Amino acid sequence: MPSDNFTSNIIAGKHVPAQSGKTLSITNPATGESLGTFAASSAVDVNAAVKAARSALEGKWARTAPGQRTRILFKAAQLIGERAKDLAVAETKNNGKVLGYVLGEINQAIEDFEFFAGAATKANGIVPPLHGAFFGYTVKEPVGVVAAITPWNYPLMLESWKLAPALAAGCAVVLKPSELTPMTANMLVDILQEAGIPEGVVNVVHGFGSEAGSALVEHPDVNKISFTGGTATGRAIMKAAAATMKRVTLELGGKSPAIVCEDAILNDAVLGSVFSIFYGVGQSCEARSRIYVHESLYDTFVEKFVEAAQKLKIGDPFDKATHLGPLISPERIALMESFVESAKQDGGKVLCGGARLTEDDLSKGNFFAPTVIVDLPESNRCVQEEIFGPIVVISKWKTDAEAIALANGVIYGLAATLWTQNMTRAQSFIRAIKSGIVTVNTPATALPGLPFGGFKQSGLGREMAMETMNAYLETKTVLMNALNKPVNPFGI
Ligand code: NDP
Repeated sequence: MPSDNFTSNIIAGKHVPAQSGKTLSITNPATGESLGTFAASSAVDVNAAVKAARSALEGKWARTAPGQRTRILFKAAQLIGERAKDLAVAETKNNGKVLGYVLGEINQAIEDFEFFAGAATKANGIVPPLHGAFFGYTVKEPVGVVAAITPWNYPLMLESWKLAPALAAGCAVVLKPSELTPMTANMLVDILQEAGIPEGVVNVVHGFGSEAGSALVEHPDVNKISFTGGTATGRAIMKAAAATMKRVTLELGGKSPAIVCEDAILNDAVLGSVFSIFYGVGQSCEARSRIYVHESLYDTFVEKFVEAAQKLKIGDPFDKATHLGPLISPERIALMESFVESAKQDGGKVLCGGARLTEDDLSKGNFFAPTVIVDLPESNRCVQEEIFGPIVVISKWKTDAEAIALANGVIYGLAATLWTQNMTRAQSFIRAIKSGIVTVNTPATALPGLPFGGFKQSGLGREMAMETMNAYLETKTVLMNALNKPVNPFGI
């Protein structure tokens, strides 16, 4: 067993290293300090985890009454609440997000467990009216062994988005957290086991996506994949899943627009938009990274937006005054620089930011300044591609039709935000915008109970809502002869 600060896999309830003994190391993105090592799993560990999940699924877990699952998930929610501070500290160290915001995300994870605790007893089938010769109904059964593959931007919250409905539906899970943020996954699974989830029902394999992740996706005994991450990875997963017809839920990238109408409350639109792009340093799938402002407000909006962006305090994520922490890895700095360079080459003006921050202690971490770019053609990659960092492009429009065409002009369709006081006009925008989520006068996008997911290349399926349960269930149709007569359909 490797020594100090080692994060193991969890297989059949036991904390175990990778069978090869290989490890990966993690660092604090705000300070560059080492946070220890964790298991670098390969196909053999994935096999063991899938086997444990299958055997737990077909053992005691399959016979657990839905009401019992409800009680376990409520207990899990309560325990997460009691350990919220410890979870948040570990997550902030590992992913660099400001502690207060991580506590908010943990609160959302709690609400998610509570929501799906209630949903466990409501996975009803149907009894449709049929021809009198028949009696038919449907039953919902767990889809089976679920592979939950999660990213680094909201580790514990997104793990909860997958674990809570999967467990409510009665599935068993193998979780593969991001190689960059493995620290809180084990804490969460330990809590679930303490709450009463039997050993083997939730397993964790840490390691690289290219090794542990792809072994999981290709495993013939995995029935469903629930993935959050980049669109390119999502495409590869969908292809691999096709080989054994695994069910897939994909929550992928975005390039979400905000539309500011001339009747918007200007201050709300400015401050809400600053939050909706820069929260988590822009490392959010729903970041509103393109802002389209009516030409009559454009100059004032841009001026106020830049002023507000420059007020954001960047630095130590444990400091209460900090708004933005670091990017997740040093590689992201070079990526941000390449986006800024491409904007400049296309005639874009960088009104603030545009570079790495290195004053004092910031030089130890991956800090990048909030960046505002204007005067860019829509064809530029800063407008078309998911940047996943603190870079926003602001452009202007004249007519509603033009605003809608601009908003819809990318391959993604996750979230869109409207800033207007005219709710009738809002309705026509809502109908025309091709996106899974449209918010009006608020930067918020995700609340348990409301489906979260994208149109177009932003993904497949919805998380966080009652319809999510169906993604973890199979429908079995039962048809019975209702006539007390001999059966001789050929009349022979
Ligand atoms: P990925 O999509 O590569 O990673 C997400 C998860 O998938 C991680 O656990 C990763 O493991 C795993 N993974 C990677 N490749 C495979 C594979 N072939 N089979 C199975 N699992 C795999 O995201 P990145 O971290 O590389 O970020 C790339 C881009 O994706 C970002 O720049 C951003 O645009 C987007 N993204 C979107 C997110 C969202 O919320 N929708 C979240 C994260 C990223 P490992 O960590 O080891 O690579």
